Amino acid sequence: MNPHSNDVLDAVVVGAGFAGLYAIKRLTDAGFRIQAFESGDGIGGTWYWNRYPGARVDLECWDYSYSFSPELQDEWDWPERYPTSAELMRYLNHVADRFDLRRHVRFNTKVEAAEFDEQRNIWRVTTSDGKVTHARFFVPATGVLSVPKPPEIPGIGTFAGESHHTGRWPHHEVNFEGKRVGVIGTGSSGIQVIQALAGECRHLTVFQRTAVYVVPAKNHPLTPEMRARVRAIYAERRAVSRLTRFGIAVPFPVESALDATPQERLKKYENAWENSQLLGFRMCYGDILSNEAANETVAEFIRGKIGETVKDPQVAAKLMPRGFPFGTKRPCLGDTYYGVYNRADVTLVDLKQTPIDRVVPEGIVTNQGLHELDVLIYATGYDALTGALTRIDVRGIDGRTLTDKWSGGAKTYLGLMTSGFPNLFTVTGPGSPGPLANMSMSIEQHVDWITRCMIDLRKLGVERIDADAQAEEDWMQHVQEVVAKTLYLKANSWYVGANVPGKPHVFLPYLGGHGTYRKKCDDVAAAGYTGFLLSRASTRETDARSAMV
Ligand code: NAP
Repeated sequence: MNPHSNDVLDAVVVGAGFAGLYAIKRLTDAGFRIQAFESGDGIGGTWYWNRYPGARVDLECWDYSYSFSPELQDEWDWPERYPTSAELMRYLNHVADRFDLRRHVRFNTKVEAAEFDEQRNIWRVTTSDGKVTHARFFVPATGVLSVPKPPEIPGIGTFAGESHHTGRWPHHEVNFEGKRVGVIGTGSSGIQVIQALAGECRHLTVFQRTAVYVVPAKNHPLTPEMRARVRAIYAERRAVSRLTRFGIAVPFPVESALDATPQERLKKYENAWENSQLLGFRMCYGDILSNEAANETVAEFIRGKIGETVKDPQVAAKLMPRGFPFGTKRPCLGDTYYGVYNRADVTLVDLKQTPIDRVVPEGIVTNQGLHELDVLIYATGYDALTGALTRIDVRGIDGRTLTDKWSGGAKTYLGLMTSGFPNLFTVTGPGSPGPLANMSMSIEQHVDWITRCMIDLRKLGVERIDADAQAEEDWMQHVQEVVAKTLYLKANSWYVGANVPGKPHVFLPYLGGHGTYRKKCDDVAAAGYTGFLLSRASTRETDARSAMV
C-alpha cells in the first residue's frame, strides 16, 4: 500500500468522550482525514459509563467544560454548579451535534490492536468488527479513569442478586426499593452513590477499607443572574485558569499554614468548609501538600467536623481518615455524606477491623458473619492512567509491545509520546498533569498541542516523530523529583497504581502545575520540537528541526 494513498488516513482517534470529541473537532478543522472509534454505542466516554445514582463531576461547570468556543459557552445553560452525569451527557451530545462530530465516529467498535509499520511510518489499527484501518498518527483519547477495577474477593461470581461496578453502570433503571444494598469502596464514586442511596433502599451497608476526607460540595442550582455574572468575565477567567497550577482561576497561595495563628487557620478552614470547592482546602496555604505539620492542621479540622456531625462516636472514629495526608488521595465532595451514618438504615463496616472473607450467593461474609444483600455495588475504582492504553495490543518499533515497555512503570516524554512508538500521541497521558488539574482544560491543551504538531509536520513533510529516549528519561526523572518534594508519595493511591495488584508503583501524574507544563510544551514546540526525533520519508534522519527554527 502506498502510504500517501487515500487508503491511509491522517489519524485514528480512539474514544468519543471529552478528549476524543475535541480531537475530532481540532483535527478535522485542520483538514486532517480521520476516523474515530468508540466502544460504547453513544457519545460521552467516562460519562457514558458512569451513570450510577448520584454521579456528578466534582469541578464547577464553569471549569469542567470546553473553552474553545465562546458561542458554546454562551448558549449552554448549566442548571447546577456541579453537573450530573446525565447533564454532562446532554452537553457532550450537544457538542457532537453542534459541531457535526458524530459522523467521524464508528460506535460499538473497540480498537483491539495497533501496530506501527516502520517502513511506511503508518499505524495499522485493528478493530473488533474485524476491519483494519491505516493512519499516519494514532491518537488514543481513552481517558485516565476508564477501565474499571473489580476487587479481588473470593466468590465474587457467586452472588445471587444484582451487582454492578459504578464505572460500568447499566443503561436500564436499577430498582433499589425495598432492597438491601451493599457498597464496597469509599472513593469519589462510592461517596456519591452512598449519599444517593441512603433512604432510597431498605438498608444500606457500606464496606469501607480506607476512610477518606469528604468536604462539602455546596452544590446549588444556578440562576440566570449567576450565569450572567460568569459570562461577563468568562474569557478572562479562562485565560487566568490556563496559567494556574490546577487549571482553575484560583491562584496558588505562598503563605505557610504554620506561620498563621490557630485562630487565623480556623477562620480560613471554616470559610473553606462553608464555601468549599474541591480544591478549597489545598488553596488555603501554600504548604498543605508539602509539609506534614501544615497538612495535619487541615486533617484535624476535618476530623473535628466528622466528630461534630456523626452522633455515634465509634462510627465517627471509623470515618476519620488517618495514616495518609489530606489531599494525597483525591478528596471527595459530599454535602450529606457524614450525616448518612446517623440513619438507622445505614451500617458502616470497617474492613480494617472486620475484613471481607468472601462473597456468597446471599451477600458478603466478613470475619464477623454474613451481611445479607440483594444488590451489590462495586465502587472499587479504576486501572487508572495506563489501563486503557495497555489493554490495546500496541506494538511499536521492532514489534515491542507497550505493555512490555511499561512493565516497570509507564514512561513518556511530556505525557505526549513514549519513545519507540512513533506517531502515537497520548492525551493527558502518564507524565502529564492530567488528573491533578482541571481535566477538560488539560484535554484542550494536549489536543491543541498535538494538532499544532501535526500541522507543523505536514508543512515540513515530516512523516515520523518519536520521543527521544534520553529526553523521556529526563522528563520522568523530573516528574519524580517534583513529587518527591510533596506528600503525595505517603498515600497508597491510584496515582501510583497502588490499587491494582502487580502494577508497578510509580507516581505518574506531573505535579509541576498546569500553567508551567503548558509553557514547557509550547516552548518545546516553538524550538522545533526539542526532545523529539523527526524524520522525513526520504532521509529517515532527524533533519526537520533545522527547517523550523
Ligand atoms: P477510588 O478512588 O480508587 O476508590 C476506590 C475505593 O474502593 C477505595 O475506597 C478503595 O479502598 C476501595 N476498594 C478497592 N478495592 C477494594 C477491595 N478489594 N476491598 C475493599 N475496598 C476496596 O475509585 P473511585 O471512587 O471510582 O474514584 C476514582 C477517581 O475517579 C476519583 O479519584 C476521581 O478522580 C474520579 N471520580 C470523580 C468523580 C467526580 O467528579 N465527582 C466521581 C467519581 C470518580 P482503598 O482506598 O483502601 O484502596
